[in-house]
Amino acid sequence: DASSSGKVCTRFDLEKETELRFEVEAGEAADQVELELLTGMGEVFGSELNRNKKYVFGPGSKIAVFTWQGCSVNLYGKPEVAYVSKDTPMLLYLNTHAALEQMRKQAERENERGPRVMVVGPTDVGKSTVCRLLLSYAVRVGRRPTLVELDVGQSGVSVPGTVSALCIERPADVEEGFSVQAPLVYHFGSTTPGTNIKLYNKLTSCLAEVFSQRCEVNRKASVGGCIINTCGWVKGSGYQALVHCASTFQVDVVLVLDHERLYNELKRDLPHFVRVVLLPKSGGVVERSKECRRDARDEKIREYFYGFRGLSFFPFSFEVRFSDVRIYKIGAPSIPDSCLPLGMSQDDTQLKLVPVTPGRDLTYHVLSVSSVDDGDEDARKSIVESPVCGFIVVTNVDTQTQVMKVLSPAPRPLPRHTLLIMDIRFMDMK
Ligand code: ATP
Repeated sequence: DASSSGKVCTRFDLEKETELRFEVEAGEAADQVELELLTGMGEVFGSELNRNKKYVFGPGSKIAVFTWQGCSVNLYGKPEVAYVSKDTPMLLYLNTHAALEQMRKQAERENERGPRVMVVGPTDVGKSTVCRLLLSYAVRVGRRPTLVELDVGQSGVSVPGTVSALCIERPADVEEGFSVQAPLVYHFGSTTPGTNIKLYNKLTSCLAEVFSQRCEVNRKASVGGCIINTCGWVKGSGYQALVHCASTFQVDVVLVLDHERLYNELKRDLPHFVRVVLLPKSGGVVERSKECRRDARDEKIREYFYGFRGLSFFPFSFEVRFSDVRIYKIGAPSIPDSCLPLGMSQDDTQLKLVPVTPGRDLTYHVLSVSSVDDGDEDARKSIVESPVCGFIVVTNVDTQTQVMKVLSPAPRPLPRHTLLIMDIRFMDMK
């Protein structure tokens, strides 16, 4: 086989309820690793492997192949590490899925809504992986759950700096994760909720409202419920944001990964009918450095413009006149209460649209293209709470000619002329 020719092949025989964990070295020059199921059954984060198919994992991948019944697999190439572990929390995760499925069955019988689940915990405890697992298991038994992505640092759905919701119709692809079709995406603008917690909470509420509206008209969505992935910031305002999320989504279940104090705090602060469950993290979850996170964010933006592996996109580059667009930043810098104009509160300043005068410093910034145009005062008010239709990156600014050059997934003209600036920058090295 050409794809694995010349690569070292290592066979692993896994006993039942064990998992093979492997990591692919990070960095441009690193080699990918291929995985093949030879006998038995195995799954990667809830998605079943097909036999005699080679799955390819690129640099930086951290993967676990779990088997309920036992299986054997081949790895082709040189993973940075590869070992088999008997010690996994998968049985507890499966039981969690079974309990959620019971709730869905009951919802079906009693014409109620299905479970709304919030997954919380500090960074690097495997929150996203648990979400993926529970969603894939749910969809495998015929449910249509919704993924709500509130992790603005490492979004699994859209580019960083956004919050979003996605209806899950099929299990995650082993190599590529969930297929992202028609997600609902809102602009937040930075990689940590702390930069504008009012806006963050506001957007959480927007998503909750849209999801509830969908549940009213779509029985399957209502029974399927949702799985909410959150940020790893669990103290102070970060904690308050979790409480806010639980309340605005009216969550029924909170899964706390590996954080006893957080578990106790949430049990204390959430209404008694909310089931708060403490789950261990998997020993396989790998801690990621700052650089690693930055690279992952960059990669997510690159994917948005250039596509992923088999699916290549060809973005466009064109000029946009300053006079044809309106650029805003959401949130004015906070000022002491005593200096606020009469009748204005801090809330107002954090949710305010502040016009940005295009200049050199705009270069490399990611801009969200709002789905509304600021035709009149009412429209302008709704911009903050409206979804976005896409993203562009400013690649060059010419203040002389009052023109900027942008990278865009679609050809000119821009579909809307209201742009929202992110703190996030992307340097196109392609
Ligand atoms: P964040 O701090 O970004 O919110 P998180 O808590 O959501 O992180 P994940 O993204 O789920 O954590 O997991 C971190 C990394 O560990 C991922 O690359 C994932 O593929 C890997 N991982 C998760 N579970 C396992 C496992 N059992 N074996 C090996 N790798 C794993």
